[in-house]
Amino acid sequence: MEEFEEFTQADKLRGVRYDVRGPIATEAARLEAAGHRITKLNIGNLAPFGFEAPDSILVDMIKNLPTAQGYSDSQGIYSARTAVAQYYQTRGMKEADVDDVILGNGVSELITMVLQTMLNPGDEVLIPAPDYPLWTAVTTLCGGRPVHYICDEQNKWYPDAEEIESKITDRTKALVIINPNNPTGAVYPQEVLEDLVDVARRHNLMLLSDEIYEKITYDDAETVNVCTLAEDVFTITFSGLSKTWRVAGFRSGWIYISGAKHLAKNYLEGLNLMSNLRMCPNVPAQHAIQTALGGYQSIDEFIQPGGRLYEQRNVAHQLLSEIEGVDVHQADGALYLFPRLDPEIYPIESDEAFVIELLRQQKILVSHGRAFNWIDDNHFRLVTLPAVEELEEAIAGIADFLAGYRDA
Ligand code: PLP
Repeated sequence: MEEFEEFTQADKLRGVRYDVRGPIATEAARLEAAGHRITKLNIGNLAPFGFEAPDSILVDMIKNLPTAQGYSDSQGIYSARTAVAQYYQTRGMKEADVDDVILGNGVSELITMVLQTMLNPGDEVLIPAPDYPLWTAVTTLCGGRPVHYICDEQNKWYPDAEEIESKITDRTKALVIINPNNPTGAVYPQEVLEDLVDVARRHNLMLLSDEIYEKITYDDAETVNVCTLAEDVFTITFSGLSKTWRVAGFRSGWIYISGAKHLAKNYLEGLNLMSNLRMCPNVPAQHAIQTALGGYQSIDEFIQPGGRLYEQRNVAHQLLSEIEGVDVHQADGALYLFPRLDPEIYPIESDEAFVIELLRQQKILVSHGRAFNWIDDNHFRLVTLPAVEELEEAIAGIADFLAGYRDA
């Protein structure tokens, strides 16, 4: 028989990683198939943990199903785009207009469209480390170079504008900000954001602000929308329904474009083209946006003292802090903790191998720090979504595993 060449991946996939769904998830699936029950603390997916969407969102989507069978405008339906524009008006962006909004199949699709439109091979994007790893993955996929700026664990995981500035070259195109942050839980104060905006302003960088956790903050922390500090800087703000409104499965998100748009005419034409190429986002899910943004925000009851997210994050933080050699910042926002294991006590060579061993021994799945492009092997991320009892059991399992590691 004639020998054919194998079908292989394109070169552009080389170096593209998305390890939060990589080998650790494959190993968990293997264990599940073998009959084990796995406690999954690895993905920020609210609905399966009992955080279900507000009824009004489901009703709106269902009511609109009969008329949502065709394609919509590529940028998204008018009512939803208007609702997004009006939302940013209420946040201080008086000029926000329907034409400044493009809807997408989740923030993920929009990150991909925005970076694909922007990057030539070798162009650089400043991305936080640790990061939400899609930013790094898509930059690489586009032939760009992710340049990581290191958030400072000693300073509540805040970024440092001077360090960012020192990494700028003539190839740097954009500065990514993730606030509130996944995986660290940091919520940046206005002064920190102002410094970052200033760097973008002085070096003519595009600001890309991922604010998907905007409304999930605890105690006195509050999200300042970067666009409100950057009315003279070309800024794209990303958000959507996956977290606050708990419908990650609907795949519904948006971008809001603001600032120096006169400097970005050509770019925006490209972005519209990219929007056309994908026809339109999922139409039924777009209908949920207007309802979601209007009225009482039901996430509030979860994030206030006594609310589930608030209490779970406290319990998780407390229990993890009690384990010898574990240091963990309390999260001011989002759904995660990113503990550090003292390398003197836990000399871990590969954090991925460490997480897989924890999974095999305790049937608990967390994500390793390097999956978030972090720079050492001594961190992991867990979600604070399970109910208190389940969290207590899981963290006791982690403590057990770590005790075994210390004694080994
Ligand atoms: N941005 C951040 C910071 C995230 O944590 C996530 C999901 O976890 C996303 C974007 C992706 O969101 P979506 O479900 O809208 O694609």
